[in-house]
Amino acid sequence: MSHTLTTPDTLIRSLDRAYQRCLNIDCDATYGVDEFHTRCTRCGDLLDIAYDWDRNPVPRSLSEFEQMWTRRWDPIRLSGVWRFRELLPYAPIEKIVTVGEGQTLLQQADQVARYVGIRPGKLHLQYEGMNPSGSFKDNGMCAAFTHANMIGARRAACASTGNTSASLAMYCAVTQLMKGVIFIGSGKISYGKLSQALEYGALTVQIAGDFDDAMARVQEVSKALGIYLVNSVNPFRLEGQKTVMYRVLESLRWEVPDWIVVPGGNLGNSSAFGKAFMELKQLGLISRVPRLAVINAAGADTLDVLYNQRNLKWSGGRPRMEIACWYYDELDREHRKADTIASAIEINRPVNLKKCLRALDVCDGVVRKVNDQEILDAKAQVGAGGIGCEPASAASVAGARLLRQQGVIGMDDRVVCILTGHQLKDPTATVAYHTTDQETFNEVLGKRGVNRASFANRAIAVPNEIDAIVKAIQLYS
Ligand SMILES: *Cc1c(COP(=O)(O)O)cnc(C)c1O
Ligand SMILES: [Zn+2]
Repeated sequence: MSHTLTTPDTLIRSLDRAYQRCLNIDCDATYGVDEFHTRCTRCGDLLDIAYDWDRNPVPRSLSEFEQMWTRRWDPIRLSGVWRFRELLPYAPIEKIVTVGEGQTLLQQADQVARYVGIRPGKLHLQYEGMNPSGSFKDNGMCAAFTHANMIGARRAACASTGNTSASLAMYCAVTQLMKGVIFIGSGKISYGKLSQALEYGALTVQIAGDFDDAMARVQEVSKALGIYLVNSVNPFRLEGQKTVMYRVLESLRWEVPDWIVVPGGNLGNSSAFGKAFMELKQLGLISRVPRLAVINAAGADTLDVLYNQRNLKWSGGRPRMEIACWYYDELDREHRKADTIASAIEINRPVNLKKCLRALDVCDGVVRKVNDQEILDAKAQVGAGGIGCEPASAASVAGARLLRQQGVIGMDDRVVCILTGHQLKDPTATVAYHTTDQETFNEVLGKRGVNRASFANRAIAVPNEIDAIVKAIQLYS
């Protein structure tokens, strides 16, 4: 194995070094990275990106990546994703797409630590809202977009609860490499996210149906028209999302934390994080893996039900996926739909379920659920620390708190909660929480079982008179 990072980029060819492999160990079909399939054509299982590490120059130690900090003039090394491209080596350098994603921040958050019940200094928030489109999705989108660019796609499509479409629209607009087509259901998309897709000029198709309908249609249409699909099922996205973990390690000076806590929707992040640690361990770049906690919203708790109640586990690569099918039939029979204020994780049939089971296996994982009240209270605590997030993101903090209360996370454990999206993505939820107007509160939150706003920072109403204003400020500050 070569250990140099200075291999001329032109030598980094992809086809013999990286390939797509069926996740089903009883199938094991492989495909080149010059092909595009949403699923295994033989058995229909998910595809996974695999590498022949003997042919890829990987640094001897993770700290070698620090050299890349000195090369900020190089867009590829400026990118928080491609800075680590030796760990996702599927793309020839001239095809790599970047808009400067992944300049994100690991923030020590003592106030949030106190709320969670962890010793101050031990809790960190990985703020992915700092990405160019405002969510972690850019980590994966630049990777999928790069693959689309490799195979010469001219159009790319997705169905989305919002952030995926915002990200796709941004990459299309900035690079002008592709036309973006976005499928949304009626309602159920926050204005912050929809406004991005519209402003960036993506073709936005609003289906008279819900997210599941949009998801089904985008797959049919992409197939019929040969449009590149960037939904969560796309395995290249997960390669980009691995780098969130590399940056966490980088910020901790390559020390592995005790816990990674992440919200679970379609389970792309959790799957990618598990794969990242699996590979780092395999490459001898870390000596232990952190534990992984995946947090569902109580109103979209499929993973929690399957993992904790119905004992669906990785089982050495042969998970009993029929357990999930039975559960989905049950949901259909009883007309149960996902419902939570955390719209980004309002998903009942997580696409990457099987990969997430692998991640939970690799990282000795746990799964929990938190309700909308807990999510919004945690979100207010995060926001009070100055780095706001959208509701789905705060599930990680609420989940860490729950695990601390249960004694699963220890007081002195080093914990990293992932904040997946920016606060301004969903101002409706935030304003409703802090409002003085009971009607607004009820309309947005009350109907979801949220009945108090313990950490609300309410506006004070004063008459338009200088004396009254002065008095109010003196009283409240
Ligand atoms: C997409 C998204 C999630 C869900 O992530 P998965 O990888 O699908 O589990 C969580 N939070 C935000 C803000 C998102 O945009
Ligand atoms: Zn297969």
